[in-house]
Amino acid sequence: MLLFDKVTKKYDQDITALEDVYFNIDKGEFSFLVGPSGAGKTTLMRLLIREELPTSGDIFFDEINVPKIPRQLLPQYRQKLGIVFQDMKLLQSKNLQENIAFALEILGKETKEIKETTEYLLELVKLQDRRFLFPHQLSGGEQQRGAIARALANNPELLVADEPTGNLDPDNAFDVLTILRNINKAGTTVMVISHDKDIVNEMKTRVIRMEKGKVISDNKGDYDTIKKPKTPTHIKPKKEEKEEKKETEEVKEKKELEIDDRIKNLEPSILKKFVDAKINTLELIFNLTESDLKNLKITKKEQEILEAFVKDYLTKSK
Ligand code: ADP
Repeated sequence: MLLFDKVTKKYDQDITALEDVYFNIDKGEFSFLVGPSGAGKTTLMRLLIREELPTSGDIFFDEINVPKIPRQLLPQYRQKLGIVFQDMKLLQSKNLQENIAFALEILGKETKEIKETTEYLLELVKLQDRRFLFPHQLSGGEQQRGAIARALANNPELLVADEPTGNLDPDNAFDVLTILRNINKAGTTVMVISHDKDIVNEMKTRVIRMEKGKVISDNKGDYDTIKKPKTPTHIKPKKEEKEEKKETEEVKEKKELEIDDRIKNLEPSILKKFVDAKINTLELIFNLTESDLKNLKITKKEQEILEAFVKDYLTKSK
């Protein structure tokens, strides 16, 4: 699902925030990203949400080449991610329910869906009875759970939480962990950036450890267990293969597209353009507008032939 392949990020000439970072996360995984301050965790997150570009290396999310996403498609891409930022507090001017609903309103959801999803998310983070409270009236743990609920509003494929248990007492920290675990059990891939040894050790799950911009350990188990990551076996998404498959599927589809007998005698170059665009009946051709023809790249000459063809058909069918 997510692949960082030999990713290096340099700020200026002499600051290397990430160096040859390699790891991949499978769909449905629960993992921790740990490491001292300055290790590169935040930079990694910035690259993931395409706030920054790598200096070199590849980042793939669902086989999308993240650094190459055109600007206009970024919002669409970011909707796949749910990020709980360390410093991103809930909106102070809105109560908890409104905070969650607002995230859905931004996505242009219908009123009914907003209501239902908000209800579901409040229940998920066990804050139904706190819905009308404003952030300053909520405890640290409740605010954190509220922020998680809000990050889940767009039903992300991957939830990344940056220090979600920082500043929480153990009971509250474990409540947050339980919620993250439940979210993961329900199918969302979860990655947690944490310094909290107790929390990490409780899960006995994958721990990716960074130091000085490098992944120095990647291992299932405890916070302190160090196990060198495997040398990257280059498992770049089999893009070409996939595209090839897509192509053959398209060809197959085209083959299966039945062509109306009445248009089979159309000039082959025109027919090809129509069939490629899945225009396979005379009725569909009749309904084409000037701009459709332009979009289909029908030349002036072809347009004349087409007009003659249609005229001929209409005369004969009279
Ligand atoms: P972490 O989140 O693990 O504490 P960061 O990703 O914030 O680490 O930082 C990794 C390194 O990159 C640090 O040395 C930091 O000073 C440097 N760094 C991060 N962002 C910038 C920036 N915008 N400009 C220059 N250096 C930066």
